[in-house]
Amino acid sequence: MQGRYGAYGADRLTRFLLIVWLVLFVVTSFLRVRGLQLLPLLILVYMYFRLMSRNIPARYKENETYLRMTAGVRTRLNGLKRKRVTGDNAYHIYTCPNCSQKIRIPSGKGRIMVHCPRCSNEFLKVS
Ligand SMILES: [Zn+2]
Repeated sequence: MQGRYGAYGADRLTRFLLIVWLVLFVVTSFLRVRGLQLLPLLILVYMYFRLMSRNIPARYKENETYLRMTAGVRTRLNGLKRKRVTGDNAYHIYTCPNCSQKIRIPSGKGRIMVHCPRCSNEFLKVS
């Protein structure tokens, strides 16, 4: 593997191709359409060709092109993932008008009476 592109580990494009290959492999084995079954094989050959390639700058450029082309989609996907994990929109933070205590309220509840845990003050808010 010395001097081959694959010696440096799988890049993003390789990992993406692997997923595409897996999906196509499953789909085409279900559909059983002749010719279509060549598709996963072509991807496998291309993947193997890239990993075995000695033209490292060219492969590197391919990966860069792939990253650039998918940058928008990947940022959006990452944004969605982050939102799910931390729940960006799941809570509203309100400040108690009496004692300035910050209170976290689940969003989407409509008009609710917020009860301050520090000073027991109650105030109406729309979440
Ligand atoms: Zn308070």
